[in-house]
Amino acid sequence: MSKNYKIGVIKGDGIGPEIVDEAIKVLNKVGQVFDIDFEYKRMLLGGEAIDTTGVPLPIETKEGVMLCDAILFGAIGGPKWDMLERHLRPESGLLALRAHMGTFANLRPAMVYDELVDASTLKPDVLQGVDIMVVRELTGGIYFGQPREQLEDRAYNTMIYTKEEVKRIAHVAFEIAMKRDKRVCSVDKANVLEVSQFWRDIVIDIAKGYPEVELSHMYVDNAAMQLIRNPKQFDVILTGNIFGDILSDAASMLSGSIGLLPSASIGSQIGIYEPIHGSAPDIAGQNIANPLATISSASMMLRYSLGESKAADMIDEAVKMSLKEGYRTGDIGAYSAKEICSCSQMGDVVASYIKD
Ligand code: NAD
Repeated sequence: MSKNYKIGVIKGDGIGPEIVDEAIKVLNKVGQVFDIDFEYKRMLLGGEAIDTTGVPLPIETKEGVMLCDAILFGAIGGPKWDMLERHLRPESGLLALRAHMGTFANLRPAMVYDELVDASTLKPDVLQGVDIMVVRELTGGIYFGQPREQLEDRAYNTMIYTKEEVKRIAHVAFEIAMKRDKRVCSVDKANVLEVSQFWRDIVIDIAKGYPEVELSHMYVDNAAMQLIRNPKQFDVILTGNIFGDILSDAASMLSGSIGLLPSASIGSQIGIYEPIHGSAPDIAGQNIANPLATISSASMMLRYSLGESKAADMIDEAVKMSLKEGYRTGDIGAYSAKEICSCSQMGDVVASYIKD
């Protein structure tokens, strides 16, 4: 009997619809091979939701996501909505959705494909073999702390972490490390921030439950430098919301293009899977975006939310094969390309490598 999963699909704005369509193409192909039926439920978020309903996170989406097994998401935002008040902008819809769903852990792999080692601005010998997982706390810290205010002569935000918030994200990082190289580097700013010393003390405590995992600590400024100097030293990086936001973008550039890297936001029953890039308004509607980050996000969805790791492996392998055979979208077109593909052609190529 075939398995059936309900996937909430939020295509979003800009290139969102184009890249999500390619991920669905690949999911359908893998579904044929593994006898899985995907039932897609379209939902609105961000700019498209503002235009249709007047708010960035409509109630139908808030309720709808809770009835799904996982959410596949493209990207939101664009200049059209930038003049709106902050709480009405597309991005506030995404922050609110993450908080609503309780997806407190953001997983961002940063790996370097051998075929694209020249695509990065760093030297190939620094990059070859890089395979990092950044585990970023997503629903706490300075982005959410109260009080926060902008006054005429000053503005302030508050960085808060509770014990429970640190414990649960630390557990996620150690569990992931157990399935990888068993090394966690916790990144903080404990030399100047009380909240970071608090974070560090709790991480040390949680580490006692994972004696096989080697724990180290690094200040965030040094971590930024080390990521560029010698990225191979890292296995799992565990960090808070704002530090993770910045470090994971820096780590993403190791791979050469923002269009390659996926992410997962997990922690509650239902995960959100999305590329790390934004809605790229500058190339929207041209069928030239790189869909590989979104296709790899669909793979993470199979692995982390649906427990279909063999299907996920098949997608990862198909992405690698596509690159190995020289298929490139424009953003990585300068690097040993055999053929420059459109967004939809790249989806076709990846799907063609998915077979029994
Ligand atoms: P961006 O990631 O959208 O684009 C940065 C650059 O990378 C652009 O030149 C773009 O063309 C290119 N790029 C991005 N994805 C690509 C892909 N798949 N293939 C090829 N090239 C790609 O960042 P930005 O320009 O700073 O932001 C644009 C909009 O996206 C803003 O409104 C921003 O708020 C929003 N945004 C949304 C998310 C999200 O939905 N999670 C994340 C970041 C930014």
